[in-house]
Amino acid sequence: MRGFLFLILSAGIGLADGLRPVAEVDSAVLEDSADTWLVTMFHLHSAANAWRYSAGGEDEADRTLLEQSDIGRWLQAGGEAGLDALVFTEHNALARAQEPSEDCLLLCGVEFSGTQGHGHMNLVEPPDTQADCLRPLDAHQIPVEEYAAAIARVQARGGFAVVNHPFHPSFPWPDPGCLGAQGIEVFGPLPGVLRKNLAWWQERLLAEQRPIFPVAGSDFHPLPLLRPGHLRGLVNRVRVEEATAEGLHAGLRAGRIVAYRFGPWTDPEDLPGVAICAGPGLAARMGDSLQLDAASVRFQVHLSGARGFQAHIFDETSSEPIYSYRVEGDDDVRAFDKDVAGDWGFVRVELERRWRLEHAASGLVCFER
Ligand SMILES: [Zn+2]
Ligand SMILES: [Zn+2]
Repeated sequence: MRGFLFLILSAGIGLADGLRPVAEVDSAVLEDSADTWLVTMFHLHSAANAWRYSAGGEDEADRTLLEQSDIGRWLQAGGEAGLDALVFTEHNALARAQEPSEDCLLLCGVEFSGTQGHGHMNLVEPPDTQADCLRPLDAHQIPVEEYAAAIARVQARGGFAVVNHPFHPSFPWPDPGCLGAQGIEVFGPLPGVLRKNLAWWQERLLAEQRPIFPVAGSDFHPLPLLRPGHLRGLVNRVRVEEATAEGLHAGLRAGRIVAYRFGPWTDPEDLPGVAICAGPGLAARMGDSLQLDAASVRFQVHLSGARGFQAHIFDETSSEPIYSYRVEGDDDVRAFDKDVAGDWGFVRVELERRWRLEHAASGLVCFER
């Protein structure tokens, strides 16, 4: 009995070595109205391309199809569902909307897609570039070097790459590493692999010692019965400096993102807010890399509208959370001092309400020496 009680108590305290709570929090740096967060749905397909795997943009039939794309209709639907932005990524072809939309911002990219047994990734260049990352390829037989080369090309053009559904039974990611991709789609429509995705992401962070951000990918494929309200749930909040396609691209590339896996009934306005700040004056934010000369760093976690959720803080020392707690109140703010022993470290936060299958994963604040 005593052992049982001890277990409960230690689960409640649960602070890892090298992590110390700070009694005073600094309310001056809470997420405030000056921050602009765009509710963004990532990884959508238009009707033109949803069910085919074109041959790397060379296929004339695919180009014609994409010119008749229905993206404009979905931008309107996205706006009605309370989304601020959509990111369309077609299989091996560059999506384009016919007309710019007032309803919703649009970013276009490519889902670099092999067929059976080959992995998928999203490549997104800055707006108004021509998908230089795209090359003719045989979607039936993509060697692993082609993935790495495409990631290098998109980065050289100022874009970013995201590993999609790494444990998809038909399209598994081809390599144990990320091959240089900046993001991992941790949340997607396959709920069965959610924990595998999250564990693999943390494993990659520990192994590669560089920032890799989380993404929720809807993998939305238009179907006759889908309605605007279905365009919810698998979304991201992206912190931007300006609410434009360029600003959204910059926010995503920097990893200023919180990824969500909620039910489609969730109004985007009701998504819990996650903000992390760190360092002197708590000036470093999610997506930043803080230059560190001390042995420890202060960070603060601000969770808003997350009452009743379980929060987990992760860092570079372990595959398990270094601290877990139940969120109290509508504005839960906690501060910690954390040791950073090596040349690189980070903190990030996950939220979960298991009985409702609701999860959120924040981007990283990184520390460098
Ligand atoms: Zn895919
Ligand atoms: Zn897809």
